Amino acid sequence: MKLRVHRWTSTLAGASVFLHTVAVVVTALAVAARPVRSQASEAYDILIRGATVVDGTGSARFLGDVAVRGDRIARVSRTPIDPRSARTVIEAAGRIVAPGFIDMHTHLDPLLRLPAAESHVRQGVTLALGGPDGGGPLPIRPYLDSAARAGLGMNVAFLVGHNAIRERVMGLENRAPTPAELARMEALVADGMNDGAFGLSTGLRYIPGFYSKTDEVVALARVAAARGGIYTSHLREEGLGLFEGVAEAITIGREAHIPVVLTHHKAIGRQMWGQSVRTLAMVDSARQAGVDVMIDQYPYTASQTSLSVLIPPWALANGDSALARRMKDPVLRDSIVRGVIAFLLNDRGGGDIRRVQFGRVTWEPELEGKTLYDWAVMRGIPPTPEAAAPLVVEGELNGGASMIYHVIDEGDVRRIMAHPQTMIASDGRLTQPGEGQPHPRAYGTFPRVLGRYVRDLGVLTLEEGVHKMTGMPAARLGLADYGVVREGAMADLVIFDAATIADQATFTAPHQYPVGIGDVLVNGVRVVADGAMTGARPGRVLRKAHSR
Ligand SMILES: [Zn+2]
Repeated sequence: MKLRVHRWTSTLAGASVFLHTVAVVVTALAVAARPVRSQASEAYDILIRGATVVDGTGSARFLGDVAVRGDRIARVSRTPIDPRSARTVIEAAGRIVAPGFIDMHTHLDPLLRLPAAESHVRQGVTLALGGPDGGGPLPIRPYLDSAARAGLGMNVAFLVGHNAIRERVMGLENRAPTPAELARMEALVADGMNDGAFGLSTGLRYIPGFYSKTDEVVALARVAAARGGIYTSHLREEGLGLFEGVAEAITIGREAHIPVVLTHHKAIGRQMWGQSVRTLAMVDSARQAGVDVMIDQYPYTASQTSLSVLIPPWALANGDSALARRMKDPVLRDSIVRGVIAFLLNDRGGGDIRRVQFGRVTWEPELEGKTLYDWAVMRGIPPTPEAAAPLVVEGELNGGASMIYHVIDEGDVRRIMAHPQTMIASDGRLTQPGEGQPHPRAYGTFPRVLGRYVRDLGVLTLEEGVHKMTGMPAARLGLADYGVVREGAMADLVIFDAATIADQATFTAPHQYPVGIGDVLVNGVRVVADGAMTGARPGRVLRKAHSR
């Protein structure tokens, strides 16, 4: 993952605060004018009436009213609350009110350009965790400050990324760090945690994280653990080496005494389909042995990542110019191409290059949405893994591409989702209509779980599904006042129709917002009202508080 420099643009940062102040004054005047009302101190800003409350804890739903004052939930009542006590009343009979969804794996890179985060907010997401897969901003503090000033449509939090730190200290070198380099990396993890990160992420399948050994990650995870952080890992392998990848993450959790998340858990490639039976058993036995391992997952049978994931990591050391040099050496070229063929057959190629679909391709936009099979045919090459492998390297040397790999089994998706330690996370990148060919998860993850997997397939109950996207991730992040509908908790709420909620984004037409979501409140302010964006930007940057 490459880091980009963001330019802060001025926004309506203060507008929502101002509006809120006006609202409080207006409410107070209204109360003064009508003495029959309850006292001003008891008036609510928003009352959600007659809703079915699914509170995020996994407990059974109940009928009730939810009242919001300021940025908190002021009252949750199983008997009706007087609608005259609130400035705004949302009639929610027949609909669900739940805590706003928390996305444990979000590519927030475009946040300063897309601060409203519409593609996420319209799914009901009110808090997204950025910096996954070893990426993310570095240093974190100035970035968080810029984000806080930008005026956000949702709350955000960040992880500090191993790949970003390793690249800063060691470039793209394929070797172990010297003791001095390891000490510098440890210091950067400590800085990130002190700046408010919630933990450490790795992307051990990516460059340069792949060049690290387990002991390096253990050392860095210990630094995060000492400051109350978690460890979330894009495993070193998700295909043929999946079991070793899971075992390594568990080892890191045990040795660093850190809570672990196996992020976007899956089994890649036909040979591995069904093997989630075994990885979930590994998670269960690790937990029985005292290692605190959880999982997150997106509800799709395709992954999205770079084209370079099809190239042997050793060939990518020191960057694309080094790759180009290696390709000129006939012996090295032969082993690079053989490595690509092996990945096409066994890993993210899934043995069929029709499963390899182009996402964003800056150097040849007409490839977007097409497959590697299509590209081979366009070039007059036999559409086989063996013949198409050099095209993969050519594409990488042209500047690479984002790719969608259709290599996950639906049975594994359902089995992993049903596991009691699995949370929902999108792995989506903030986007907006017209921008390339994103994975549909960027628009549809949370509604898809509640529509397809809860309502249509019955993989989860509604209470379980909501818990996996609210109370569970809040607990993993140590955020006691989030992810729950409870008096005193933060007023991050979503109101949706369980009978109609659905994702609309597809792999061929991804730029479509979901349906069935009526209102989304962030810190007590509606960012979505009756299905439309309000323009409010009440989101905050959450920084982990820790004592040492
Ligand atoms: Zn990843």
